[in-house]
Amino acid sequence: MSTLEASLARFNGRRYHVYNDWIKLEHGGRLQKVSIDAGFTCPNRDGALGVGGCSFCNNEGFSPSYLRDERDITRQIDTGIAFMRRRYPKTQSFLAYFQSYSNTYDDLDKLKAIYAVALAHPAIEGIVIGTRPDCLPDATLDYLAELATRTMVELEIGIESCADDVLRECLRGHDFACTQDAIRRAAARGLFVTGHLLLGLPLETSATLISGARALAELPLDAMKFHQLQIVRNTRLANQYRAAPESLALLDPASYLDAVIDVLEYLPPSIKIQRLGSEVPPDVLVSPDWGMRLHKFPARLEARLQQRDTWQGRLFAG
Ligand code: SF4
Repeated sequence: MSTLEASLARFNGRRYHVYNDWIKLEHGGRLQKVSIDAGFTCPNRDGALGVGGCSFCNNEGFSPSYLRDERDITRQIDTGIAFMRRRYPKTQSFLAYFQSYSNTYDDLDKLKAIYAVALAHPAIEGIVIGTRPDCLPDATLDYLAELATRTMVELEIGIESCADDVLRECLRGHDFACTQDAIRRAAARGLFVTGHLLLGLPLETSATLISGARALAELPLDAMKFHQLQIVRNTRLANQYRAAPESLALLDPASYLDAVIDVLEYLPPSIKIQRLGSEVPPDVLVSPDWGMRLHKFPARLEARLQQRDTWQGRLFAG
């Protein structure tokens, strides 16, 4: 169990471990991720496991608008970097972020060729690969581990929930044991592993969330991303919401931040927090409309951690 003083010292004066603080120390500055849609699909869409996708998924909701009409990876990177330079003029370093769908779901030779295009871009210093835990065969992990000896590689694994009934309800197509196995096999090869957790899914409760947080604390994760469940157009959840809005108990900002804290308290201090939420374009969002921008989340979280007199790792038993 960590003390507040030790945590504040470790977390640069904050109550949780901010990825950007850590990367600035490690890398000497901020690293900006440039999203790429490389045209992958996923086994929950191409018929291998299902065709309708996870109940919450519409990749238009999760991808930047500048990717919608461009298929060429180099041009996507050029456009993304131009966008990032306008938004963050001081940023000089960029990672190619394979974000849309399952970016390890293809033949390994094809994967190598696709990653190589991004890594050949002169402004790109490494890659971030988002995927599902059941799309990580050993051969792919071996290749990524070898690649990581030459360039920066981060692997982002969609956990979404640690509770099997929640995963079943959202039609995810894999269980939590699959996630645990993928994270362990990736970490055993020395890969930097980020877990992606979606808070507010149907059937998730405080009890399942906390038992999930305890299970996450035992995994060799380097970083975590938190997202709030948002219902977006053209998803099964959107259909359910339209038919029976009362059947979905959506979180408000306060209860969402409390849920994030409930997880943070059990996570080891070593886990860096990369993200605290997401914003989907208004034309895609169905509900909830919090009317709150993402950049306000860190200050709100820090204030709530102080109010609750807690911090990341307070209940970590390691
Ligand atoms: S969330 Fe990921 S795994 Fe699920 S349907 Fe969408 S792309 Fe596939």
